[in-house]
Amino acid sequence: MSDGQYADRDRSFALAQRAQELMRDYGPSATPRAYAVWYTYVSGDRPLMNDAIKRLTAQSEGLSPTDIDELYDTYLDGSRYAAAAGETGATMLAEIEGVMEMLDLSLGSAAQYGESLRALSLDLSVSTLNRARLREIVATLVATTREVASNNRTLEARMRESRTEVESLREKLEATRIESLTDPLTGLANRKHFEEMLQKALDGAARGAQPSLIVLDIDFFKRFNDLYGHLIGDQVLRLVAVVMRESVEKGAMLARFGGEEFGILLPNATRETARAIAEKVRISVMGRELMKRSTGESLGKVTISLGVATYRRGDNPVSLLERADLCMFAAKRSGRNRTLDDATTAELAAAVA
Ligand code: GH3
Ligand code: MG
Ligand code: MG
Repeated sequence: MSDGQYADRDRSFALAQRAQELMRDYGPSATPRAYAVWYTYVSGDRPLMNDAIKRLTAQSEGLSPTDIDELYDTYLDGSRYAAAAGETGATMLAEIEGVMEMLDLSLGSAAQYGESLRALSLDLSVSTLNRARLREIVATLVATTREVASNNRTLEARMRESRTEVESLREKLEATRIESLTDPLTGLANRKHFEEMLQKALDGAARGAQPSLIVLDIDFFKRFNDLYGHLIGDQVLRLVAVVMRESVEKGAMLARFGGEEFGILLPNATRETARAIAEKVRISVMGRELMKRSTGESLGKVTISLGVATYRRGDNPVSLLERADLCMFAAKRSGRNRTLDDATTAELAAAVA
């Protein structure tokens, strides 16, 4: 073993030990999934997962089995959707095999047809041929030709069927992929998809782009829900998504992070542009008088608070998200229904990424 291999080995044992300590302290228990989550945590390979763990442990003493499952599925294991894709792949292979079998059959009958023709042509060339024999030969010829034609029709129908089947499998696969990336309530991207796009945007920053991120949260939404119920609350979440869609140009990425918190990622926009978009969304949401359709009863208005962070050298997805979040919280503290950015929020203006 080389020195490098020893060093890797030492590091992995040190990580394993640390993972075990954390698992003991934060739980929930020493399952293989929990171990994988904690080992990855100490290795620092998934900064977004570490961020999620920090958020979870800030809220409660430790992790629950559900937390571990969600972390594992979101950050460590793509196999849920890979399994769906695998199933679709297997069906597709079975389809192709079916068609190949039909082709073999058809080729077989074509070869047989060739054989019959050759035999008949031999018969035709003998001089003793009489009328009755000729009729017999023609009848055989007609029957064999019919049989081949019918085989071809079956093959054609089977091919058409397979084609439709393959098409619908392709659509199913695409639908599964989209479902895994979408928030079902609003149709916007979910947090997982958003984090992937954020990583891409930061890769773009390395090539000279200027990503900006807006985080927004509905003000006093708990009160609204308590007053009018969750179903109407859900309608408000959909309305915010509609306003967001109306307020951005092509290229912006919109997401619902969960709850009543949303994100807008602008892959290449200055702080001023991002601020202008944030203000457009804020003013538009504030301008909507909410009405209960069934009764015409007015539900008043909702407002939102927004935080804007613009890429700084050295940023990673977590630091950019954190800054936008801090700006949003600063907007809440300073009275809500406003936008603050990381140049005007005092403590963030001075901080380095
Ligand atoms: P703040 O201005 O500080 O943001 O106050 P808030 O009441 O909006 O904040 P808080 O985080 O205390 O409450 C968020 C509420 O959002 C809690 C819950 O009633 C509501 N909420 C979260 N997710 C959903 C959802 O999917 N549907 C509905 N209808 N309400 C939700
Ligand atoms: Mg809120
Ligand atoms: Mg909130």
